[in-house]
Amino acid sequence: MALPPSILIVGGGVFGLSTALSLRQRHPEAQITLVESSPTIPNPHGSSVDTSRIVRADYANAAYSKLAAAAIQKWRSTAWGRQGRYTQNGLLLVYPADSVSAKEYARKSYNNVRQIEGDNVVFLPSQKDVLSVVPPYGEDLDVAGGYVNWGSGWSDAGASVAFAKQMLDADGKVDFRHGNVDRVLFDEPASASASAGKGKPRAKGVALTNGTTLTADLVVLATGAWTPRLVDLRGKAVATGQAIAYIKISDAEQRELENLPTILNFATGMFIIPPRDNLLKIARHAYGYRNPITVPVPGVGASKETMAVSLPETGGPVPLEGQDAFREALKQLLPRFVDRPFADTRICWYTDTPDGDFIVSYHPDYEGLFLATGGSGHAYKFFPVLGDKVVDAMEGTLDPELQKLWEWTEANTPAPGTNMDDLFDGDGSRSGARNSNLQEELAKTRKASRESAL
Ligand SMILES: Cc1cc2nc3c(=O)[nH]c(=O)nc-3n(C[C@H](O)[C@H](O)[C@H](O)COP(=O)(O)OP(=O)(O)OC[C@H]3O[C@@H](n4cnc5c(N)ncnc54)[C@H](O)[C@@H]3O)c2cc1C
Repeated sequence: MALPPSILIVGGGVFGLSTALSLRQRHPEAQITLVESSPTIPNPHGSSVDTSRIVRADYANAAYSKLAAAAIQKWRSTAWGRQGRYTQNGLLLVYPADSVSAKEYARKSYNNVRQIEGDNVVFLPSQKDVLSVVPPYGEDLDVAGGYVNWGSGWSDAGASVAFAKQMLDADGKVDFRHGNVDRVLFDEPASASASAGKGKPRAKGVALTNGTTLTADLVVLATGAWTPRLVDLRGKAVATGQAIAYIKISDAEQRELENLPTILNFATGMFIIPPRDNLLKIARHAYGYRNPITVPVPGVGASKETMAVSLPETGGPVPLEGQDAFREALKQLLPRFVDRPFADTRICWYTDTPDGDFIVSYHPDYEGLFLATGGSGHAYKFFPVLGDKVVDAMEGTLDPELQKLWEWTEANTPAPGTNMDDLFDGDGSRSGARNSNLQEELAKTRKASRESAL
């Protein structure tokens, strides 16, 4: 399928930037614009930007393992991974005695990744074997077994987003605009013929909150966890807030921990990525916090109908519940840091889909509207190869197994108003409470801090 002359990408995270990189290479004649609401790319509040992201081919689904293996090749052997943007320290995946699903995930993932990494992957059938890989974690480490994949690593996510932007700036083929998209604009006359059964409404651009418009033949929404404001994604995707905390460590602690593998406990969702610059990060891969906000139902024409959808709130602290969970995890993993104050905490937003698969697809109800989102907490690692897959999907040439996972069809469109809570199960690797409300948790946190001040 030929692509049209002008393409507008909304969002400058991993999905948007990788799409721009691929488009400018494969379609140099196209007029490509990228609009981002943050004054800077990297956007410090975007999901793609952080001290670190795990880069692993360790998946229970072989399609993702294969794609991750292709990405890892680029992280290892091209400019993507240079200047500290990629560190191959290994990934230790562990499970406790009482979690059948975590053990099952680890088993499937081990089998997949063995085929890719061979002897780089070592099965660790007992707690003692696990400890032989991470001695500083100590005898209290509450795990029954796991495996280590020395072929996995982590990436400096802020630096890599900056690198992608630099590559795009270098040839100036992509026109970057700063602006907050208020809504997608549709060709209203086409909607009249749509109602007569002659076609679908066509996206023709976007309106910005400052009152200006940007027009294009194809609009690509790569707006991450903010996407449910721009298209009705009820039952398709939900923004979930995930907790992260950072701990300052000494030079000696940095030296001791920096070469260890990342540890990921699939039962608790807790993971610790080796420190850099004396900052140790602990994070939780969980069901996450919801932040319901009432917004107009997006679509063609002005609608008075509203809907409550979870949308990101950035810049605030992690609620006490999350901080307590980190302390509990540290007690099990690195007890010496249990009482160390957090230098910073942050909520970072996933765009979660019911089964953890991305949405890389034309919208089934509109012409000229494409979505590249639904990262579900695992899209970062694909940065070097993701844009090519997005453009393949635009052209109709995506590998069938990925198309099956990522395409939004009439058949997998949920009924209007479907509640995501009934559908979302993730990939079996999530922890924490389901449907936890961010504002309620923050209110509890404020109350606890008032009480402790009395
Ligand atoms: C805590 C956490 C840990 C993670 N760990 C890993 C990991 O270890 N490994 C891994 O592979 N992946 C990981 N991920 C997932 C990965 O980071 C995300 O899937 C990926 O970064 C999502 O990219 P994105 O482009 O969809 O979103 P974003 O990076 O958020 O980009 C979307 C951009 O769109 C912009 N935007 C939104 N709305 C508008 C609008 N209306 N107008 C203009 N601009 C707009 C936003 O400002 C933002 O910059 C993690 C994510 C989180 C939150």
